[in-house]
Amino acid sequence: MAPLANYVSGRWSNGTGAGIPLLDPVTGEELARVSSEGLDYGAALDHARGVGGPALRSMTYQERAQMLERIAQVLSSKRESYYRIALENSGSPKSDAAIDIEGAIFTLKYFARLGAALGPGTYLQEGDPTSLVKGDAYQSLHIGTALQGVAILINAFNFPAWGLWEKAAAALLSGVPVLAKPASATAWLAQRMVEDVVSASIVPPGTVSISCGRAGDLLEHVEGRDVVLFTGSAETAQRIRSHSAITARSARINVEADSLNAAILGPDAAGELAQLFVREVIREMTVKAGQKCTAIRRILVPQPLVEEVIQGLTAGLAAVIVGDPRDSKVQMGPLVSKAQQEAVEAGIGELARESTIVFGDAKTTDRPDTGAYVNPTLLLQREPYSAQAVHTTEVFGPVATVMPYRDKQDAVRLAAKGRGSLVCSLFSDEPDFVQSVATELAADHGRVHIVSTATGNAHTGHGNVMPMSTHGGPGRAGGGQELGGLRALRLFHQFSAIQAPADAVRRLSERAASYRL
Ligand code: NAP
Repeated sequence: MAPLANYVSGRWSNGTGAGIPLLDPVTGEELARVSSEGLDYGAALDHARGVGGPALRSMTYQERAQMLERIAQVLSSKRESYYRIALENSGSPKSDAAIDIEGAIFTLKYFARLGAALGPGTYLQEGDPTSLVKGDAYQSLHIGTALQGVAILINAFNFPAWGLWEKAAAALLSGVPVLAKPASATAWLAQRMVEDVVSASIVPPGTVSISCGRAGDLLEHVEGRDVVLFTGSAETAQRIRSHSAITARSARINVEADSLNAAILGPDAAGELAQLFVREVIREMTVKAGQKCTAIRRILVPQPLVEEVIQGLTAGLAAVIVGDPRDSKVQMGPLVSKAQQEAVEAGIGELARESTIVFGDAKTTDRPDTGAYVNPTLLLQREPYSAQAVHTTEVFGPVATVMPYRDKQDAVRLAAKGRGSLVCSLFSDEPDFVQSVATELAADHGRVHIVSTATGNAHTGHGNVMPMSTHGGPGRAGGGQELGGLRALRLFHQFSAIQAPADAVRRLSERAASYRL
């Protein structure tokens, strides 16, 4: 089987060698292969910098926004083929695939709207002019111009569509070409989307490239004007971050790594709020079979409510139908691969050395061996301060641990034991508690998601990443920041101070895009 074609240096080409097989995680059947062997990454990046960059930079924000809208339209028109690939290659039921595919289209459309509002400028202005001398004759103005390199997008296996386009949308809108390197195991969907976009002739040459297969010597060719956006495990992040080309050339890098996200049930939680909390935890554990970087891994519950919450969770998890996503009754499919199944089983074993399994077990006997299935598994840790693994081991599957807390400070301290997370949610109707805890949690989390009884059916979900809100967390979560409306554009711009006579500053300011955070 020939590997899926890569698109670099303005042409389609197949990698050499045997390649890496992409398997159906239900049947184990081989679906495709990927290979980046033989690709000249240096030439690919030069082409993007030399051809794609100037083409994008000659366009206004408004024109790039129209391009994003056209990309979204092409992807929308082909979406049924993407659902089929997600089913076959990721084992995703339709509702899981929608998060990835519709999430990608939604995010592109959102950035298209933001870009349209930026107007006809080609650079950004940040803040107002500031006088540098007595009087206003000589001033300083901060402007942002598009980086003159390439945005290199290295993505994780769990969001082949959204992971690509949420990064590409902000880069392309900024005027920076992209080279995508999806995770090998699920690269098919990203590759097909890029193929559709390139075939539709809606992006200038050199602006969108894709390489499927191993990264090889890609990072050797990174230059100081490039930006590397990485999403994946903390271990790979460390390797990429410390790569000599990145450190020696001071290339920008944005890391979205793993995260032990917590959900806190407020001490005031009465029946309905506790039910909403239980429903959300079950959803987070089972959507995409728990393969979401934002999924709830640690469940913090007031001591007196622990038994009630566990009862609710076990009843809900028992009702989840796990199996082949081709069956429309199935709610949770397999993990993405046998390797992930083994990793999750090992992770459950590690957690269970300190915590007690109260629902589920790693081994599955009632489904074919070919499937990478793992049952939802709930653990209880009664001594959350002495336990280690629950705060350090990310088990990337349908697995979470309940822990009791005593008071507000205790809840905040336990959440912080994740050493920096993408998101923490808080379920409470008590305004003072919410206000004080939210600000304390914010220091260790990229996003704090608050749910009250009144908004129980209206909130966007603990794990859903909305393009209006920032995505990324401090510390262990990688220290990166993506999305968050126009904030997303900062990563792809060089902000410089222009010190000049007032008249020159005024003229620069008049032509800048109206960018206000
Ligand atoms: P991974 O093994 O770290 O791989 C991530 C990406 O890095 C893949 O494209 C991989 O390519 C590539 N890669 C591996 N070694 C590399 C190297 N030396 N140089 C350059 N690229 C390299 O992660 P994963 O298993 O795909 O994803 C699961 C992890 O991602 C979990 O820990 C999860 O928490 C995290 N994640 C985080 C976020 C977030 O936004 N914070 C979102 C989703 C997932 P190959 O596939 O070819 O090896």
